[in-house]
Amino acid sequence: MKNLVVSTLLLACLGFAQNAAAPEQHGIIPANMDSSVKPGDDFFEYCNGSWLKKTDIPPDRGGVSAFAVLTDLSNKRTADLIEEMAKSKGNKVADLYHAYMDEAGIQSRGTAPLKEKLDAIRGIGDKRALAHALGETLRADVDALNNTNFHTPNLFGMWVAPDFNDSDHYAPYLLQGGLQLPDRDYYLSNSEHMKMVREKYLAHVAATLKLAGFDNPEQRAQKLVQLEHDIAETHLTLAENDDIHKANNPWTQADFAAKAPGLEWAEYFRGAGLEATKKFIVWQPTAFAGEAKLVDSAALDTWKDWLAYHLIEQYAGVLPKAFADEQFAFFGQTLGGTPQQRPRWQRAVGVVNTYLGDEVGKVYAQRYFPPEAKAQAQAMVANIIANFRKRIDALDWMNPKTKAEAQHKLTTLYVGVGYAESWKDYSAYEVNPDDIVGDLWRGRMFEYKRQVARVGTPVDKHEWSMTPQTVNAVNLPLQNAMSFPAAILQPPFFDAKAPAAYNYGGIGSVIGHEISHTFDTEGAAFDAKGRVRNWWTDADLKHFEASTAQLAAQYDQYKPFPDLALNGKQTLAENIADVAGLAAALDGYHASLKGKAAPKQDGFTGDQQFFIAYGQSRESKSRDAAMRAQVATDSHSPSRYRTFAVRNIDGWYSAFDVKPGEKLYLAPGERVRIW
Ligand SMILES: [Zn+2]
Repeated sequence: MKNLVVSTLLLACLGFAQNAAAPEQHGIIPANMDSSVKPGDDFFEYCNGSWLKKTDIPPDRGGVSAFAVLTDLSNKRTADLIEEMAKSKGNKVADLYHAYMDEAGIQSRGTAPLKEKLDAIRGIGDKRALAHALGETLRADVDALNNTNFHTPNLFGMWVAPDFNDSDHYAPYLLQGGLQLPDRDYYLSNSEHMKMVREKYLAHVAATLKLAGFDNPEQRAQKLVQLEHDIAETHLTLAENDDIHKANNPWTQADFAAKAPGLEWAEYFRGAGLEATKKFIVWQPTAFAGEAKLVDSAALDTWKDWLAYHLIEQYAGVLPKAFADEQFAFFGQTLGGTPQQRPRWQRAVGVVNTYLGDEVGKVYAQRYFPPEAKAQAQAMVANIIANFRKRIDALDWMNPKTKAEAQHKLTTLYVGVGYAESWKDYSAYEVNPDDIVGDLWRGRMFEYKRQVARVGTPVDKHEWSMTPQTVNAVNLPLQNAMSFPAAILQPPFFDAKAPAAYNYGGIGSVIGHEISHTFDTEGAAFDAKGRVRNWWTDADLKHFEASTAQLAAQYDQYKPFPDLALNGKQTLAENIADVAGLAAALDGYHASLKGKAAPKQDGFTGDQQFFIAYGQSRESKSRDAAMRAQVATDSHSPSRYRTFAVRNIDGWYSAFDVKPGEKLYLAPGERVRIW
């Protein structure tokens, strides 16, 4: 939830746009606007109307956006770097890339690379062996607060992060899991769309089992999808997952047996290599109790089929073409609405970024992020923080003690710009150019072991959770830190040669957005040291909750489809961050002018450029299925509605002379002011 853009699912669905043209222009792009639309009626169309008309969604994407175009550019550069690295031998980056690209080798090996693991599943004779096998699937593949990913198809997922109760040391967090579809809603919702998805999912599971040589694939599929449905019923919703006060549940190993009976936990932890780990933080206790009970009550054979199918699904992209095509037909086309798969080289770049991201990242940072750009972005950060300080001092509703805590949080805040101060060491990760299945298995295992080894060790407050080639930004609440990778510090967010209005409306509003997360519903729960400690008074919280409820109601009204509205509560923290980020960035922009008049561009005033730059950095177009998936699962509102955050900012009304009667107009008393 704390990262700037779409969830992992959506990144997968949106894919990457091709042929990002190098921008020749510096500043806002009037040619992308639609001046026939009144800014007060639809600010998104006003900023992006012509772009929307002339832009087609490529057939291999669920959508296209500024983020996607930048991701393309970053991918292209990363691919070039990989190609260079591929020229030298014995290089892990090159070996992994080539292993993924070796379609002939993949085809000729068939399902042999999975045989040993499938045999082991077949050999499971009782629930004790099942518990061990389930433990063996645990990986460090979820992230509750930084890059935010609550989804793992394994029974449970692990996240190693600063301890809620001791922010100086790392602790293991365990999260619910077990579903292939993105969220519980896909199993439980009664909408026509979800019913259609479920029908096709059942057929997909059967088809996959059939390809792998299982007998009675339809029958098996029926039972294992029913098992996933039962798992889904135990899961918390995405909105519930965001409540960290319900998530701080330290359990000893003995607690698992007592509070979640049904699974032989000692055997599970042995399988996971965690028998020596004494304490965990369980994010969703009710889901753990429910899932453990299902391990006991559902038939052993159904669990074995579930394990086998989940294993095959995890590797389908690097199995023979029939498997990969079947997977794409369901997950890409049905679920993501993407007609055509991305070229293989782009997927290979994605794999290298996932498993050897820092290895590429350190070269990327050197080449594409000059020290001048870093200095300029750091100056903007300092300016926006200074103006956040003023906004906090000026609040009339906040208790002076709370204000002092907030100021202290700004003082200890660590803002990383461009790239991390140190890089991951991959020497323990073995890559074999002739064994892509093994490479991915070892890659996940390498990361898992690396994370397990960190448990109990001191926290590095300057650590990054994103590579420099990632087009995103992130707030790390348990470290009181945030990062802005090099790859997002480019147009339409940042351009060293553009007017200040452009940079503050673009990356400035992103910086403000991330800083605001330091104080929002979750930020209020973490103090300057990243400890879980509510530093607000009850009265502060009351005011905050009243204003945020008003904002939730505002977003509840937006309807991307007649049968589907946004969920104002699910997207609340991100919407607050958008409004607050804009307000702080506008202040920062005005301060940067130092009393001088703002230069005009194409007839637009400085403030107009600021808001248009914000709107244009949100340009985006999605296929319906991808849009529905985003509304269902993402904590961010779709771009169009993120742009509408401007209606809460007084400066937007004066910049565009927005009048009562225009669709986005809010009377001054209805505008939500939080910071
Ligand atoms: Zn955010």
